Amino acid sequence: MKKLLFFASATLLLQCHSPETKTDNTIYVKDPHSYSQPEKAVVKHLALDLKVDFEKQELSGKAVYDIQNNNSNEIIFDTRNLNIQKITLGEDEKEASFSLSKNDSIFGQALTINIEKNTSRVNIYYSTTKGAEALQWLTPQQTAGKTQPFLFTQGQAILSRTWFPCQDSPGIRFTYSAKLRVPKNLLAVMSAENPVAKNDSGVYNFSMPQPVPAYLIALSVGDIEFKKIGERTGVYAEPVMLEKSVYEFADMEDMLISAEKLYGKYQWGQYDVIVLPPSFPFGGMENPRLTFATPTIIAGDRSLTSLVAHELAHSWSGNFVTNATWDDIWMNEGFTVYFERRIVEAIYGKEYVEMQWQLGLQDLEATLEEFQESGEESSLKLHLQGRNPDDGLSDIPYEKGAHFVLLLEQKAGREKLDKFLNDYFNAHAFKTITTEEFLKYLDAEFIKKYSLDVNVDEWVYKNGLPANCPRVVSAKFKTVEQALYSWSKGTKPELLPTKDWTCHEWLHFIRNLPGNISASEMEILDNAFHFTNSGNSEVAAAWYVQAINSNYKNAYPEIETFLMNVGRRKFVVPLYKQFVKTEEGKRLALEIYAKARPNYHSVAAITLDELLGYKLP
Ligand SMILES: [Zn+2]
Repeated sequence: MKKLLFFASATLLLQCHSPETKTDNTIYVKDPHSYSQPEKAVVKHLALDLKVDFEKQELSGKAVYDIQNNNSNEIIFDTRNLNIQKITLGEDEKEASFSLSKNDSIFGQALTINIEKNTSRVNIYYSTTKGAEALQWLTPQQTAGKTQPFLFTQGQAILSRTWFPCQDSPGIRFTYSAKLRVPKNLLAVMSAENPVAKNDSGVYNFSMPQPVPAYLIALSVGDIEFKKIGERTGVYAEPVMLEKSVYEFADMEDMLISAEKLYGKYQWGQYDVIVLPPSFPFGGMENPRLTFATPTIIAGDRSLTSLVAHELAHSWSGNFVTNATWDDIWMNEGFTVYFERRIVEAIYGKEYVEMQWQLGLQDLEATLEEFQESGEESSLKLHLQGRNPDDGLSDIPYEKGAHFVLLLEQKAGREKLDKFLNDYFNAHAFKTITTEEFLKYLDAEFIKKYSLDVNVDEWVYKNGLPANCPRVVSAKFKTVEQALYSWSKGTKPELLPTKDWTCHEWLHFIRNLPGNISASEMEILDNAFHFTNSGNSEVAAAWYVQAINSNYKNAYPEIETFLMNVGRRKFVVPLYKQFVKTEEGKRLALEIYAKARPNYHSVAAITLDELLGYKLP
C-alpha cells in the first residue's frame, strides 16, 4: 500500500476549525480533511442539474443546496479544480459574493460564500475541469463493448469535491436528487433510485431519500443495461458483460437475505451491482443501492463474489453507520470484512471462509512487516491529518479491524456479538461515529455487560498485532501445504492432489512457493497448471508477482497485457512494486506504465506515479 507522506501546506489552513460544536442534535466532529464548518451552516439537501458532455469531458450546470443556517453569514464548501461561474441565494436567485482560498494539491480550495442570516438555499453554477480526479472518462476502446464512451465517478475518500462543490466530510450527511442530461444512446445511473432502461430523451432523474455523506454520491454513464436477479437485486453492465455478470452474481439475493438475518433489515430498498470497465481502481465501491464493481471478479465460476458480500455489508457498516472521519476508517472496513465473512460462511460454508481468514491474516502480516520497516503507523485509529486519506487504505483497517471483531466474537460467543452488532447498527442508524464514541458504546454494551477482559487500547491505539490475535487455521490449506512439500521433494506437479481446488487453494499454493524458485521450475508449474493464462484475476495476479520475482520471462507478455487492461490498484501496485526491485525491472515497468497510465483512474495513477518516480512527459 501507499506509504509516502504528504506534509501538505494545507495542514495549517485546516487547523483553523473550531472544536466540536452543537447544532440541533448533531455534533460535528472536527474533520482534518474538509474545509467545511458545518456548525455555521450545513447542507441538508442537494439537487444537481447537470449536462454530461463526453466531447469536452465536462459536467456543467447547477447545484442547488438547501441548508440549515445557524445565523451564519457564510457557508463553506470543499472544491478542487472546479470552475465556479456564479453563485446565487434563495429561490429568487440574488447574486452572492464568494471567495476561494489558495489551492492545495490534496485538499483543493475552500469556497466561502457570503450568505444572509436567513438564507436557506444556495445555488452554484459550475463546471468540472480536466483536473476532476473523481471522474474517469473512457474512450470506446477502453470499454468492454468498444463502441460507446463511458464515464464513472469515484468519490471516496475526498474526490467528490472535484466533481461538485460539497461539504466533503463523512460526518456530514444530506439527501440528494439529480437531473442529468446525457447522450441519447447512453444510460445514466447513480447511487440512488435508478432507471432500468434507456429512454429517448437522454434525460434521467434520480432521488436518494436517505441522507448520505458526499463520498457516497456516485455516477456512471455508458452503454449500460439492467437485468434483474431477485426481488430486490439486479445487475447493470455493458451489454457484452451482462449475461456473464448475471451468472456470476446469481447468489446476490441470497446474500442480501443472509445479511438481513445477521444484522437487521436492509435499509436502502434496492441493491444492485454495476460492473464497470476494467480501469476501475478498486475491487468495489459501496455506493448506496448500487455497488460499483471491477470486472476482474467475473471469473466465470463465481469464485470471487465475496466482493459483493463485502460491498453489501457496507450497507450497514459504512453507509448506515459511517466513520466520522477518515482516521476512523477501521469502523467502516474492519466491521465490513468481518460481516462479509459471516455472509460468505452462511452461503458457502465454514471451510470456505476459513481459507479467507487465513489469507487475510497472511496479507495483514506482510503489511505489518512492511510498515514496521517504513515506520508507518499500524494502529486501528489513524492520524492522517495533512495527508491524503487514501494513504490509510491498507490491510490495517480491513484485516486488523476484522480480526479485532473476531476476537470480540471469541471472547463472548457469536450470539452475544451478533446481538451487540444488531443493537449498535440500530442505535446509530444514519449517523456517524468516531472511534472514541464506539469504544464507549462497546465498553458499556459489551465488555462491561458480559464482564469481558479485552485489551482494546492495545488493538486500537498501538502499532503491530497484539499477541491474542485470533488465528484461523484452514483445514483445506493443510492439503495445499502438503502438496507444496511433496512438490519440493520431487513429486511431479501433475500428480499433486489439486483436482477440487478452489481459487483460494491455488492462491495459497502460489503465495507459498519458495522465494528462490527458478524460472525453469516456474515453467514446469505453468505447463501443468496454466497459471499465466488463468482466467481468475486473483490467481493470475499472485502468479505474476512470482513470475517477476523469479524472472520467468514467458509470463511477461501476459503481465504486460494485464497491466494494460486492468486498473485495480490491489493488483497493479504489487506488480509494479515487484518490478522496481531490480534496475532491469524498473526500466520495463516504466515502459509499460507510460503506455498503461491513460487506462488508470487517478486513484491508482497517483500511487504509481510516486512508486515509479514517474513524471508526465
Ligand atoms: Zn470496504
